[in-house]
Amino acid sequence: MTAPSPERPPVLLPQDTSRIVGREAQRLNIAAARLVADAVRTTLGPKGMDKMLVDPLGDITVTNDGVTILREMRIEQPCAKMLVEIAATQEREVGDGTTTAVVLAGELLANAEQLLDRNIHPTVITRGYRLAAEHAQEALAMIARPVRIEDHTLLSQIAMTAMTGKGIEQAREHLASLAVRAATAVAHRDGDRAAVDRSAIKLERAVGGRLEQSEILSGLLIDKERANPGMPGAVANARIALIDTPLEIRNPEINASISITDPRNLQGFLDMEEQMLREMVERVAASGATVLLCQKGVDDLAGHLLAKRGILCLRRVRKGDMERASAATGARIVADLGDLTPDALGRAGEVVGMDIGDASMTILRGLPGVRAATILVRGSTEHVVAEAQRALEDAIGDVSAALVSGRVVAGAGAPELEVARAVQAYAATLTGRERLAVRAFADAMEVVPRTLAENAGLDPIDVLTELKGAHGKGLTWAGVDVSTGKVMDAWDAGVLEPLSVKTRALASAVEVATLILRIDDVIQAGKPDAVNGPPDGMFGE
Ligand code: ADP
Ligand code: MG
Repeated sequence: MTAPSPERPPVLLPQDTSRIVGREAQRLNIAAARLVADAVRTTLGPKGMDKMLVDPLGDITVTNDGVTILREMRIEQPCAKMLVEIAATQEREVGDGTTTAVVLAGELLANAEQLLDRNIHPTVITRGYRLAAEHAQEALAMIARPVRIEDHTLLSQIAMTAMTGKGIEQAREHLASLAVRAATAVAHRDGDRAAVDRSAIKLERAVGGRLEQSEILSGLLIDKERANPGMPGAVANARIALIDTPLEIRNPEINASISITDPRNLQGFLDMEEQMLREMVERVAASGATVLLCQKGVDDLAGHLLAKRGILCLRRVRKGDMERASAATGARIVADLGDLTPDALGRAGEVVGMDIGDASMTILRGLPGVRAATILVRGSTEHVVAEAQRALEDAIGDVSAALVSGRVVAGAGAPELEVARAVQAYAATLTGRERLAVRAFADAMEVVPRTLAENAGLDPIDVLTELKGAHGKGLTWAGVDVSTGKVMDAWDAGVLEPLSVKTRALASAVEVATLILRIDDVIQAGKPDAVNGPPDGMFGE
């Protein structure tokens, strides 16, 4: 290992480039990554604390959600950023386990640091970590148990676990049942497992009312009302057209001016415009459509003409909703009205306008295509609704992940301790320095139960000693009872999580830790405006 070089290589790099090499680079990178882990670790688990995030405009978010916190922190240090990215990937791909991934990565790095201090080469550590990770994954697969679409009790326990500590305690059971109903409504069996199209589940927010009044609407809810009050408020046996072009001639977003000198020409121009709109509406009507969803604007005259034809039209429908409507009704989204043939249309049992809170929306029910479900999230304030939405997303993600992998484990630190045991047993078969690395990995797993205990205000040493004793006696699911500080059977307590959340969190943690450990040279190019401007990130973007 080289000592930090006192001088900059003068010819290789431009003057404002900074360079840190060797042990110093590792120390700084590990320290930065651990700071990120420390920032979120107090939020882990059912007794985790919340963070209040204030953005540059003064908007406030109060949350317990690892990835939200990291995103809002706008971290700049490159290695710390890698941890944030791991959390974001975990969130995107499995939807939960983000804090766990980051906390595990931080601990793997902390333990690696001690080995580095003992002059163990990073290559040895990363190899040891990778070998250990393989055994860890096997251990997780061994203890996991099967779960199927019919297992509603297991599934709602998974949903409940996903939502613990999210500040929606009083409504947790109700929201969990909504999450399970939504996920199972869009799931279909695929051999032993299930396929779940999470995009078929839509969460719509409504401020006003209580969390317990949140409900599931079977069908697709779109937060738009009919474009013209003359249109029908409800259409049964609807034939649905989806278009992503405007039903207007002048695009109000484009500032075009036409100079007309002769008043007769103006009339001619207006007549022509009206004629074109009439033709457009005629095309829609000729296709047989009774409901029209338009992604763009619809001219008031066109709206009026559609209303006269008895066609219900929603304008400026969001792209995501257009896609959902296409999947759910079987309609094809067309860009050219000429393509609006009867076979491009989809169907819905009914399309009805609904007043939800202060908002007027429209729901499509009786959908033939992929099943769709909408959860209407109600709550007293914007903050409550937003946090409930995040909690529901986690719950839906976890229930889906459990259905997709078909495997579930109990939590509360139990699986991490089983992994630690398996990896320790593997370490015993090794010799030399690799064994130290494998052991360091096993020890790092304990950070999960330890943090759960710490966050609950318990003595982590006592709790860990008891837990390890229980696992030693063969109690696979022995976990932390955060209310009593005693050992509980996490399976019997219903603290359940999909296997894939655990396997992915572990894999991500190992990946980012080994990536960071292998860096021994950080070359940072000077920022174009670094001389006078404020450092990036200080005032946001
Ligand atoms: P993440 O972002 O990693 O999902 P969470 O804050 O959701 O972080 O905490 C997840 C951890 O909390 C898991 O280890 C899980 O097993 C544990 N946990 C959840 N509910 C309970 C509970 N009731 N008792 C003990 N541990 C729990
Ligand atoms: Mg979670």
